[in-house]
Amino acid sequence: MILLTPGPVQTAPQTRAAMAQDIAPWDNDFRAVYARIRERVLALAGGVPGEHACLPLQGAGHFIVEAAIRSLVPAGGAIIVPMNGAYAERVLLLARGAGWVAHAWPVPDTRGVTAEDVEAAFAAHPEATHFATVYSETGAGIVNRPEIIGPVLRALGKRLILDAVSAFGALPFSMEDHPECDAVVFTSNKCIEGLPGIAFCVARVDALEQGRAGSWSLDLWEILNIALKSGWGSFRFTPPVQALAAFDVALDLFDAEGGQPARLARYRENMRILYEGALKLGLRPYVDQAEQGPIIVTLHQPPGFDLQGFVDALKARGVLISNFYTTKTPSIRIGCIGAITNAEMTQAVAIMGEVLASTTPAG
Ligand SMILES: *Cc1c(COP(=O)(O)O)cnc(C)c1O
Repeated sequence: MILLTPGPVQTAPQTRAAMAQDIAPWDNDFRAVYARIRERVLALAGGVPGEHACLPLQGAGHFIVEAAIRSLVPAGGAIIVPMNGAYAERVLLLARGAGWVAHAWPVPDTRGVTAEDVEAAFAAHPEATHFATVYSETGAGIVNRPEIIGPVLRALGKRLILDAVSAFGALPFSMEDHPECDAVVFTSNKCIEGLPGIAFCVARVDALEQGRAGSWSLDLWEILNIALKSGWGSFRFTPPVQALAAFDVALDLFDAEGGQPARLARYRENMRILYEGALKLGLRPYVDQAEQGPIIVTLHQPPGFDLQGFVDALKARGVLISNFYTTKTPSIRIGCIGAITNAEMTQAVAIMGEVLASTTPAG
C-alpha cells in the first residue's frame, strides 16, 4: 500500500521493526537512547542547550499544542490565531478550551499570513502577547512563513508559538534564528517518518514558569524540572517506548537521506508530481501554485464526486488517501510526505487517472 495521508505517514520497514521489542523506560540502556533523542531533536530545531529545551509529551499533536499554549502564554495573556485553515481552528478552540483568551484573525485558507496581517491583528488586539500559527496548514496545504511573521513580531515585541506538526523536519526552522519564538511543536509521525505516540516541544527555558500551565498533566515546566533533577533520560509518565525506539531509527534514516534539505526536496518533488499530474487529469487544485506548500495537496471535488467511492477504488489498487477533507469547500486531500519515493508518487497519480477514467460516465 502507498499511504498518501498527512500523518501517520508511510514509514520505512527498519523504523517499524524497531518497535518489535520490550523495553523498560527506566532501564539505563534506554535512558541513554531517550536522552540522545532529545539532544538530536534540540539540534534539529536549532536550539541552544541551556537556552532551549526539548520537552517531549506522550500523545498526539493537539496535546503538545495545548501544553505549549498553557505552559508559555501567561494566564491573563492573550493569543492571536490567524484562521487560514482547519488546524488553526483547532489551535483557537484548544486555547479557549484551556481558558486562555484567543482572538481569531480572519485570513483566507488559500494563502499564507502576510506581514500586513500580523500588523493589523496586533493593531486590533494590542493586549495580545502571542501569535500562535500553523507553519504548514494541513487543512488546505498552504504555508505560514516564519521568515515573514518573525520580523514583525520582533518589531512589535510579541511572541510566537509555532505549530510545526506537519512541517518539522521538512520545512526549515531554527529557534536560534527566531528569538521571538517561545516554542515550536511537532510529533513523531509526520515529516520525521516515525510512528505515532510521542509529541515534542522545543521551548525557550526562560519562558517557562512554575505553576503557569493550569494543568498538572500538560505542564511543560514540570517536564523540564524533572529533566534537570533526574537527567534528560528520565520520564515523568509512562512513555510509548516502542514509538521512541522507532523514532530513533527514523532519525538515523533522516540523517542518512541528507537531513532537512533532502527531505524537503523529496517532498517538494512529490508535491510537484501530484499537483501537475492532477492538472493533467482535469482536477483543479484548491491552492494556487505560488501558495502551494510541499506537505499536502488539496483538489476541488468535481461536481457529483463520490469521495468515499474514489478512496475505496484507489485503495483497491494500492493507494490510500484521506476519506475526509479539511478545506472550506469539498476537496480531495492527498499527502506528499512519508517514506514515499518520487516514483511511487508518479505511480499513484497514474492510478488516480485510471480510477477517474473508470468512474467518469462516458459521453
Ligand atoms: C497533524 C497535525 C496536528 C496534530 O494532530 P494529532 O491528530 O493531534 O496528532 C496539529 N497540527 C497540525 C498542523 C497537524 O498537521
